[in-house]
Amino acid sequence: MKIAKVILDVQAIQLDRPFDYLVPEELVDIIQPGIRVIVPFGPRSVQGFVIDIGENTDIKKLKQITKILDVEPILNKELLELGTWLSNQTLCMQISSYQAMLPVALKAKYEKEIVLTESCNLDDLHSNLKGLLSSKHTINWTEVEEKPEIFKLVKQEIQRGNVEVQYLVKNRANKKTHKVLTLEKSVEDILQIINTFPQQAAKQKEVLEFFIEKNLDSYPRLSLMQELSITDSPLKGLIKKNLLKEREVEIYRDPHAQKRFKKTTPLPLTVEQQSAIMPILQSIEESKHQSYLLFGVTGSGKTEVYLQSIEEVLKRGKQAIVLVPEISLTPQMVERFKGRFGSSVAVLHSGLSVGEKYDEWRKIHRKEVNVVVGARSAVFAPFDNLGIIIIDEEHETSYKQEENPRYHARDVAIWRGKYHQCPVVLGSATPTLETFARSSKGVYQLLTLSKRMHDKGMPDVEIIDMREELREGNRSMFSKLLFEKMQDRLEKGEQTVLFLNRRGYSTFIMCRDCGFVVNCHECDISLTYHRNEQKVKCHYCGHEEKVPSLCPSCNSEHIRFFGTGTQKVEEEIGKLLPNARIIRMDVDTTSRKGSHEKLLTAFGEGRADILLGTQMIAKGLDFPKVTLVGVLTADTMLHLPDFRSSEKTFQLLTQVSGRAGRHELPGEVVIQTYTPEHYSVQLASGHDYMQFYQTEMGLRKIHQYPPFYFLALVTISHPEITKVVSVTEKISSYLLNHLSNKAIVLGPVASPIPRIKNRYRYQCMIKYKDEPLLRHYLKEIMSHYQKDMQQELQITIDMNPYMMM
Ligand code: ADP
Ligand code: ZN
Ligand code: ZN
Repeated sequence: MKIAKVILDVQAIQLDRPFDYLVPEELVDIIQPGIRVIVPFGPRSVQGFVIDIGENTDIKKLKQITKILDVEPILNKELLELGTWLSNQTLCMQISSYQAMLPVALKAKYEKEIVLTESCNLDDLHSNLKGLLSSKHTINWTEVEEKPEIFKLVKQEIQRGNVEVQYLVKNRANKKTHKVLTLEKSVEDILQIINTFPQQAAKQKEVLEFFIEKNLDSYPRLSLMQELSITDSPLKGLIKKNLLKEREVEIYRDPHAQKRFKKTTPLPLTVEQQSAIMPILQSIEESKHQSYLLFGVTGSGKTEVYLQSIEEVLKRGKQAIVLVPEISLTPQMVERFKGRFGSSVAVLHSGLSVGEKYDEWRKIHRKEVNVVVGARSAVFAPFDNLGIIIIDEEHETSYKQEENPRYHARDVAIWRGKYHQCPVVLGSATPTLETFARSSKGVYQLLTLSKRMHDKGMPDVEIIDMREELREGNRSMFSKLLFEKMQDRLEKGEQTVLFLNRRGYSTFIMCRDCGFVVNCHECDISLTYHRNEQKVKCHYCGHEEKVPSLCPSCNSEHIRFFGTGTQKVEEEIGKLLPNARIIRMDVDTTSRKGSHEKLLTAFGEGRADILLGTQMIAKGLDFPKVTLVGVLTADTMLHLPDFRSSEKTFQLLTQVSGRAGRHELPGEVVIQTYTPEHYSVQLASGHDYMQFYQTEMGLRKIHQYPPFYFLALVTISHPEITKVVSVTEKISSYLLNHLSNKAIVLGPVASPIPRIKNRYRYQCMIKYKDEPLLRHYLKEIMSHYQKDMQQELQITIDMNPYMMM
């Protein structure tokens, strides 16, 4: 008797454990860990993951698995284990962990069918399947579902490479196919037959010779016609003679397919790069896990170190994962990896459609690629022989997922690095304090690239006090200096990048007479002004209204939009420098798929003088003609209620400055600010990470923040404020009573955003150094409130919060 342990897809904490089910006799050979099944649960049928198969159970009346959803495991042993660890670590349900590892197409109930593979050998195919497949080339999954004998055949044939399961993602029209012609006879036979061809069949002969010359088994029909400049008819003739066969084959929706990538070869490394790469190569050679911090200023050649490390990994037949922040997953970045490793690279990012993501995932799953470049979730790429994991720009907060499972990609990477005994490389010019502290303690090995490539110095940075400008009567958003320099670049035909801090924070409506700010009634945050529609919108709940013409508080007419949005800056440049060609990049201009890429390409080709944008232009851009970078408002981020705001400001300013003067032409940076004396502004302008690290560590120590303390954040929300307060009070005092007296429990307090979508939000923050039972207590709290949480109460726990709002 085989018993399957199944994790159910049910959102209830008390059900977050494996349940035992009997494996039906006829599915014994098929059901194994990592496949999804349907099982009866109470009156319902629910989906679940088989995580283990055993022989024993304590359950008397065992129910039986009803259906299977996969023929092959979609999660391997490693990922199943990782899921358990992740759930314990982040306090999420195990099912959430597994779902986070899979592409959406596999989460939802997409239809499936069984099809012949491209390389299928029909003669070799089991006759029962041949019968089913020959008439229509596909078998619908539901047809097989009730017939275990067919399942077994399908499984066998999958292993032999003759058939595969395909997910029909969204509408079928999305699935791109093309016609492929396959040679139906051996080369010897063909050569003989060609000799018997009459004169009129010259074209047919040419086609066959093409196949033989190029040593091809099959070739796309359209490409064949184009390359040989022939019509359809010789092909039809050959098909009729049974020399060629035509089949529909799915083509991957590879978003980068149209582009040709220029092949690059490894560059001879500089002395610094050599000493940085040595320890990494050694780990690869010895198959030993070690985490490294590759601390290198912008433009110091970190990427070349990644590329050459990966090359070593591939030589050994192993695989590589490269994580880059979503925002810097630019065409330029992708190009560098595709240029070196060609089609063995899969790319995963959120801009892909469900189908495209699934295609990329499938390439990984089938081992058709051995390098993945992707955003956060690519850390779960189902490789089974990892040789390296690289996290570029490791300080980026997008590596932390802000929904269940609330994991940090760095922790997952290190877990997998240990599992596979391979190196993990964290790269940054501005590492997080946590990471740098770990490298000073030797937990991570520090590798330093202190110099920019080609003896380029760091760009000169000027700080401009905007209060001073105002006092001198300059009411424009550009300081005198920045404006002069922009003018100068325009005359010289060089390019400028203008950086404006995150949209929304500075674009609110305020009354100049009484100071009234238009807020969202539901969320207690200011509404953002959208010029095009003459509306204000809430960025938390989506509420929108027309811009008031009179102040609701004092009736003054002087209520207007305050601060600066990218559109406003664009207009102003238009007035001041009418000849300047501007490209604006923000959420509005890049929301359409591919537009981000188009805008950047245009700028790279010199079709604009000024690139104006938000966060998304801070990273990874590398354009030779950019010699001026202007930061319009350096301090908007300094005033957020977040203990990392100085660190984030420093990182951002350093990154932005790094965009200038990366090539032959020297670069200059102008930072405009209302708080020029702030240490993160000062030290960023001096490119002084070490000093910033020292200063900030001092403050973190005094205020008991990471990396000196760990944090856990419990946020409670409910439509009634009294309920929220009382629950938060109870949770806080429970923790206070149970944790050691070294732990600090802060709460109950209102969250920095005290209300979202009409729900009040309170929180309790725990600062701790060593509380082995903390997770246990937090789980207790969650089960205690289980009933209430099925109603209006919400409790979220973040074991390593990055969003302090
Ligand atoms: P980082 O990733 O540290 O910001 P990059 O990898 O972008 O730096 O390197 C900056 C520039 O230097 C790139 O144009 C890159 O091609 C070039 N480069 C890197 N390593 C070398 C090398 N060993 N020799 C010559 N050029 C190099
Ligand atoms: Zn007013
Ligand atoms: Zn709102």
